[in-house]
Amino acid sequence: MSQIELTGIGGKPIRVNTGLFINNKFQPAAGSSQLDVENPTTRGHLASVSAAQGEDVDAAVESAQAAFQGQWRTILPARRGQLLNKLADLIERDSDDLASLEALDAGVLFGESKGLHISQAVETLRYFAGWADKIAGQLLNIPQGYAFTRREPLGVCAAIVPWNAPLMITIWKLAPAIAAGNVLIIKTPELAPLYGQKLASLVEEAGFPPGVINIICGHGSVAGQALARHGGVKKIAFTGSAPVGRQILRAAADSNLKKVTLELGGKGPSIVFADADLDNALFWTAIGITANNGQVCAAGSRIYVHASVYDTFLLAFAEKLAQTSHGDPLLSETTKGPVISLKQREKIIEYIRHAKESGIRLIAGGESMPGSGNFIANTAFADVPDDAQIMQEEIFGPVASIAKFDTEAEAISKANASEYGLSAAVFTNDVNRAQRVSAALESGQVTINCWGLLHANTPFGGVKQSGFGRDMGEEALDGWLTTKTVKYNTLPAAFKE
Ligand code: NAD
Repeated sequence: MSQIELTGIGGKPIRVNTGLFINNKFQPAAGSSQLDVENPTTRGHLASVSAAQGEDVDAAVESAQAAFQGQWRTILPARRGQLLNKLADLIERDSDDLASLEALDAGVLFGESKGLHISQAVETLRYFAGWADKIAGQLLNIPQGYAFTRREPLGVCAAIVPWNAPLMITIWKLAPAIAAGNVLIIKTPELAPLYGQKLASLVEEAGFPPGVINIICGHGSVAGQALARHGGVKKIAFTGSAPVGRQILRAAADSNLKKVTLELGGKGPSIVFADADLDNALFWTAIGITANNGQVCAAGSRIYVHASVYDTFLLAFAEKLAQTSHGDPLLSETTKGPVISLKQREKIIEYIRHAKESGIRLIAGGESMPGSGNFIANTAFADVPDDAQIMQEEIFGPVASIAKFDTEAEAISKANASEYGLSAAVFTNDVNRAQRVSAALESGQVTINCWGLLHANTPFGGVKQSGFGRDMGEEALDGWLTTKTVKYNTLPAAFKE
């Protein structure tokens, strides 16, 4: 199968296979179908990789089924943990290559990819490696004797992954799936698949038996839908947009009622109270909307600031957002890369244009940036009405919508006035207020005096239309296991009559 060579950090050559990784072999897609990958920094052609078709999805499922029915089903749980730890070692070893690939096709800053996404992926692999031999059921008393529960793997599972932090999000699925004893097919994102091609080689090198982890790239409407409809797939773990999440649920309902977990979008509120450390709040709220160019499901894209510090906050926030140096995400001096695609750039520009035309006060940015790539200035609007489009809809770009509030109750009510509920941030030095507000917010995660922060041992996921199910933390295992109850009748025969 063909390989391509790309140029990574410091001019280092990186070779990746372009084929579908099925049964530990790279192979071409049916009909030699390929898809083209663009470099968002230059908009030039970067690579072509195989694009899985329906037949390829069938082949991936067949190989996974054979792996699950074979030695994998009875493999010692500790061995699953060893394999995950080995994969973590290899990802660490090749982190420069993986971060370079995310910079090249997803436009993620090299330092952000290596220092945050990849190190978080490694942490997650090691965390779930530890769980592999600690998954336990319960022993229960029943009148006839006793019962116990077995926590069993589901079998052939699939993960469908977005482009914004593709390796980290893939590992959020892979690590608990494998720890729980499943086999997994990963559908990588068509806009940023190169990490997956590299990951596949590492899976093989780590020693996973053939078919335990298959990695295929392909278009969502073809390969993604084929997985969602497939009768042989027992679970889909999806991270992506809400409309596609709905399609996957429908496909699951119309096929084999496979288990589905959804990590969807967000419109995260950040609330800055008057008693907050303002410098700290400014630091985190600015990161909350500029990290990865705002292409973060947990982005703090709605910012509510107490009226008494509102004007001071706006001035300093606009100044912070302007401090960027945009360019090639592989270069260390770059602090702002491109957004993923021209289409995404145009979508973001359209939101900005609409807000400006509606008369909403622009305090920072508001335009595309010079150069041939998909660059957009960090942008902020102030006094944004609750019902404004930019306050309601997920933009998935570096655009903050700011409004003021007077009372705690008002701040909570504004923050909860969203169809989403993924992540929220609260800035206050009053510990009682922090407790009250975090309890009142309709959100899967609340951070106090910081934003974002991902840890392998803490569950991450949404409520409302941000989805259901959790990545990371012990709770993530629930999404990859089923419970079987076994009951023993220990009564003497006489009592049975
Ligand atoms: P997307 O929904 O377009 O695509 C996500 C994945 O789904 C891709 O692999 C794509 O190929 C696949 N897909 C597309 N159509 C499909 C279909 N009909 N059937 C099956 N699969 C299909 O999302 P995106 O543009 O890649 O990512 C951006 C979205 O993802 C945003 O809404 C963002 O909030 C969300 N996101 C959520 C989280 C989270 O953890 N909650 C994390 C990252 C991104």
